[in-house]
This record gives sequence, structure tokens and C-alpha cells, in this order.
Amino acid sequence: MNRAALRVSLLFPLLLLPSLGRAGSDQEHGGEETPHSPGKGHSHWSYEDLKHWSTDYLDCGGTKQSPINVDTAQAIFSPDLRPIQISGYSLPASEQLKLKNNGHTVVLELPDSLALTGGYAQQYRAAQLHLHWGSPSGPGSEHTINGHRFAAEIHVVHYNTKYDSFTEAMVHPDGLAVLGAFLEVGHGENQYYHEILKHLFEIQEVGQETSVPGFNIAGLLPANLKFYFHYNGSLTTPPCYQTVKWTIFNQTMLLSHHQMSVLVSTLRSPDDEILQNNYRPVQNLHGRRVLASFQATPPVKHTPGSGAPATAEGHSSSFHAGDVLAVLFGVLFAVTALAFLLYIYKHRSQNARLDSPTKSKVIYTAASTENTA
Ligand SMILES: [Zn+2]
Repeated sequence: MNRAALRVSLLFPLLLLPSLGRAGSDQEHGGEETPHSPGKGHSHWSYEDLKHWSTDYLDCGGTKQSPINVDTAQAIFSPDLRPIQISGYSLPASEQLKLKNNGHTVVLELPDSLALTGGYAQQYRAAQLHLHWGSPSGPGSEHTINGHRFAAEIHVVHYNTKYDSFTEAMVHPDGLAVLGAFLEVGHGENQYYHEILKHLFEIQEVGQETSVPGFNIAGLLPANLKFYFHYNGSLTTPPCYQTVKWTIFNQTMLLSHHQMSVLVSTLRSPDDEILQNNYRPVQNLHGRRVLASFQATPPVKHTPGSGAPATAEGHSSSFHAGDVLAVLFGVLFAVTALAFLLYIYKHRSQNARLDSPTKSKVIYTAASTENTA
């Protein structure tokens, strides 16, 4: 390879990579879509009947559905994602919150004084939080990380303050923001989850509700709100509106074994069975990008004797591995084309030298310089 070709191969990534980075973020944040009109389905749906969701609710068959599997090696590091900031989450015990078994999950209604004040481009107010879980024999988080399903998952649902209510916001593309965190079994009782779990036996039957004294709702979320994944998706239950900007925290919450048992075996479902496995399977990404607020370390892949994958891995924290490969192939093509042109040029100048000795001397000198490398 000659020196000019080397110079081009060094320049091309510098020219191309920033534009690729912009293309990625445009796709993530731009392109507002009008949500499909809600299907006129029955209000009854179940996790046993997943196949019919999209018949009764058109959006459930859309291309921006949730939950998803997060492949950390494919997640795009985005330094623009600032730590999530919450305010008003610490509620006095004098404030009574409604806790309800709605037949699909346990819902804790939240006052709209709770707000998201950082990490999102717009302002959001809290509406409610709820949980998804498995059974005594299996995990039940909705989102998965590299194919791993966690024991359970909490969703804190917020709506954009530019809309008057959750109901109005939920049909708009920028309407909702949901914070999600994974729950796992660890040592010791979680005092914050205890504030909810100790009331579950009061709402075992579908439709039952009770009052819960206010507590620090922030305790239900990870202490570290800096590390998270972000993507555009949907409600994970009918009507599946594709209006949710999702935040999935990297840090998991720990509950005692007993607490997890209470969660997965206390509430009853509309079929009068134990309400279990209330999670939706992961949905196709359909080209969506998942952003990471941190350098998500991909699982180490050993590719002996090959330099190229190592280069791609070096960029995979900030760029899609596919983009990097595309650039590498583009550069390879450009270098080959340039080398070919130089080869033609050199041969033409050698021929030209026969016709014009003075002119050819200059050209020959230049060409030889280019070929010393
Ligand atoms: Zn949910």
C-alpha cells in the first residue's frame, strides 16, 4: 500500500464516523409517528391470549413494541444521556396512596407532584407504578438483558407535562416516560418494597383496593440513576400504544426470598387463579437502536489471529458494530480503487515520459515519492 492510500484510509473514518453517529441519534429521537387508532377490542385480555392482542388492539402488532431484549454489545453509548433526576418522590406518611389489584398486576397510584426533572428532554409527572413477575418456579421480568430474564420488574409510569392527563398523553408519541428496574432475590428484606408487599393480602381479589401511607418512592428504584438503557417503545399491555420513552436501569433491586414469594403468590387473577407470569414476551426491535448512558462492556469475544474484530470491538461502545464494519469495507474499497488509479497513472506517466522528457521528470519524481512507502 502506498503512502497516499494510507493517508486516505486514515482520513476516511474521521470523515465518516461523526455522520454515522448523528444518523444513529436522529433515528432514535426524530421521526415522530402518529400512533394507530386504538382497536375497538374488548377490555378483557390476558397473558394466555397474547396472539390475539394485535387483533383487538392494532398497536400491539406495531414495529415499536415493548418489552425488548437489550443486547449490551449492540447498545450505543450516548454521552448525551444525563443521569435521571426525580423530584417529590419522598412522600409523607400522611399522604394516602391507592393500591389496587387490577387483575393484571398490583398498581400503586402516584400523585402528580412526583416528577422527572432530569435525563429526559421534557418534563414528566408520575401517574402510577406497577410490577411484573414470574412464579415460584421461574423469573418474570419483561425486559431481558443479553437474554437474561430477571425475577421481576418495576415500572414507574410518567406522562409529559404538556398534556393535561395520563389518558391524553398516552396517545401522543412523546406522551409517556417509563422508568424500569429489575428485581432479584438477595440477602435481607427490602424496607421500601415492604411498604407495598405488606398490603398485598388486603387486595388478593381482582378489583380490590387499599390505602398505603406515603413513603420514599425513590427507594423502590436503584440508588444509581446514572446507568441506564434508553429506547423508544410501547405500553407492554393493551392498548400497546407506541408512545413510551423507556429507561431501563442497569442496577438491580434486591428483595428477600420471602418478599419475592409474597409478590408471586398472593394476588389472584380474573380466572381466580394465582396471578403469575404477568409479563409479555420480548418484541422485535425492527431496527430500533438502544442507547446506553454508559460504556456497556460487551461480553469478551475472543477471535484469535484476527485484528479486524478487535478494531470493531474498540468502537462498539460508541458505534454500532455494523456501522464500523461498513466503514472498514468502505475504506478498503476506496484504498483499492486509489491504488488502481495510481497504478494506471504511473504507467501513463511512464509512457508520457517518452514524449516529453522535461514534463515526465517532474511526474516521475512525484510518482516515485508516492511509491516509496
Ligand atoms: Zn409494566
